[in-house]
Amino acid sequence: MDSASVEFGNLAFASPLAMESPLRDPAFEVEAKGLAPESGCAAVFVMEQALKDAAAFSAASPDREVGGFLVGGYHSCGGADYTLVERFLRAMDAKSRPASLVFTHDCFEAAWREIARSPNPSGRPQFLVGWHHSHPGLGTFLSGNDLFIQRHFFNLPWQIALVVDPRGGKLELFGWKGHEIAGRGFYLARLRQASGR
Ligand SMILES: [Zn+2]
Repeated sequence: MDSASVEFGNLAFASPLAMESPLRDPAFEVEAKGLAPESGCAAVFVMEQALKDAAAFSAASPDREVGGFLVGGYHSCGGADYTLVERFLRAMDAKSRPASLVFTHDCFEAAWREIARSPNPSGRPQFLVGWHHSHPGLGTFLSGNDLFIQRHFFNLPWQIALVVDPRGGKLELFGWKGHEIAGRGFYLARLRQASGR
C-alpha cells in the first residue's frame, strides 16, 4: 500500500473507558481465534458482523486491493485494557489498484464524518481503532508500506491492522507487541440476544 498521501488526525485523546470485558459480560459470546489472544498484549475483541463486513467487502473486489477502517472502542476492565471492534467502514474514494491502495486524507475525513453521523446505539464513544486492507491472492502479511502506515498512523498500543486475502480465503490481525508489530490472535464476539437488546 502506498502511504505517500496519508495524513492522520490526533487520536491521543482516546483513553480507556471502563467497560466489562466481553469475557465476563454474559451478553457476549466469545470465541478465541488464531494465536493466543492475550500473549503479552491487550486483548482484542472483534464483533462478528464487523469481520464479516470486512471479508465481504474484500471478496467483492478479488482483483484489486480495497481498504477500510475498524471502528470501536478502547476499554478497561479490572485493570486490563482491551480493544473492541464494533463496526467496519469501507474507505470511500481510496485509490485502488491491483496491488496497492492509497488512503487519502479525504478517506479519513469521510470515516470521521460517518462515525459522527451514526453514533453507537450504546452511547459509547467510537474511534478508529484500526484499519483494514485486502491482499488478493498475495497472502496475509504487512508490507513495508503497510508497516509504515501502522507505525505512523495507528501507533497506539491498542490499534490494529486487519489483512484479508479474499482469494486465499484467509485473514489475519496484526497489532503491537511492545515496539514490534506482529500477527496476533483475537476473540470473535457476538451478542447472545442481538434482537432483544
Ligand atoms: Zn498490504
